[in-house]
Order: sequence, then structure tokens, then C-alpha cells
Amino acid sequence: MVIRIGVIALQGNVEEHIQAAERVLDERDGGEAISIKHGGIVPSCDAIIIPGGESTTIGWLMEREGISSEIKAAAKKNVPILGTCAGLILLAKHGDGEINKTKQPLLELMDVHMKRNAFGRQKESFEALLDVPVLKGDKFPAVFIRAPAITSAEKNVQVLASLNGYIVAAQQKNLIALAFHPELTKDMRFHHYFMDMI
Ligand code: GLN
Repeated sequence: MVIRIGVIALQGNVEEHIQAAERVLDERDGGEAISIKHGGIVPSCDAIIIPGGESTTIGWLMEREGISSEIKAAAKKNVPILGTCAGLILLAKHGDGEINKTKQPLLELMDVHMKRNAFGRQKESFEALLDVPVLKGDKFPAVFIRAPAITSAEKNVQVLASLNGYIVAAQQKNLIALAFHPELTKDMRFHHYFMDMI
């Protein structure tokens, strides 16, 4: 069986994610990483990545293309789903006051509260070394770009890493939410951890 990773390709860091996924698949038993721009493709994928970008735009376009409902169905079937940055926002069940006001569409899959731009808008981007016990070994170099964060999580959510009092990496069964961009660093341990779930 050829492993197929689908990257939601409506807006944002799509190419970086496809290249990172291909690199990791090559290090394993092979497989393909494909871009998803419309409905009908998600059901053929063994794992799904929702990239960073503008969560409002990605959310509306996913609804319009019929991708949101397919992702929700895949999540129920235990297909591994990785959301990075804007992808974390979209995976969450609850947002902050601003999100409640704008009513941006969320997939509402993870039992967490999140906050957009948790680290401020001015600090456009920064790198932090995270302690991530499940990855073993060295600290993980995480690149944050206008990053969101998880402000609270239900007990069924496993906290994988925290920073400045916020949860920045979390897992709920087959769902992984990262506030940062693992596709932008050379350290592919998060990708391997994700693909181990297939
Ligand atoms: N701040 C962005 C949003 O709310 C997310 C930033 C990112 O994905 N790099 O959509």
C-alpha cells in the first residue's frame, strides 16, 4: 500500500508542507504527499495535514469546497490529522472572544480553548527550543509565526509541549495540534511521530 498524505492546499504554507512530508516519507517506506484543493480527495488519504496561513480564509474555503465535512468524517475514522498554526486554530472546539464575535468556521474536533495571535502581532516570528518528552532526545526547535496557542484543554487531551504558560503542542487520539511550524525546520521528529500513527 502506498501511503498517501493529503495537505489542505487552499491558502498558506502548502508547498513547504508537501516538501517536508515527501522528505519524511522518503526516510520511511515511501509514499506520496498530495495537495487538496476540493472535496473528494480527503477520503483517499491515510493522513491529513492542515497547514499554517490565515485560519479565517482556510476555514471558509474548506467549508465552501466541502472539505470540512470530509475532514470531520476522517477524524471519526481515526485518520491521523495534523494541524499546524492556523491548522491548530481550525482543529479547536473553542476560540476566544474575538473568534466568537467573528464566527470564523472551526472544525471543532479537539476539546481545547485556543487564542489567535497569542504571542502578539508585533513579534512576527521567533524560535524557541521546546521540551517535548514524546519526541525523546534534544529539545525541539520550533518556529512561531503570529502563532496561536491553546489556553486550556480537557483531560482527554495530552499536552505535548508548553511555552510561556500556553500549550503549544497537544494530542487528542489521532489529532495533533501544533502552534508552530515543524515544516520549516530540519528536525522532522514531529512528522515521524505523526506518521507513526498511520
Ligand atoms: N495568526 C494566523 C491566524 O489566525 C495564524 C498564523 C499562522 O498560521 N502562521 O490564522
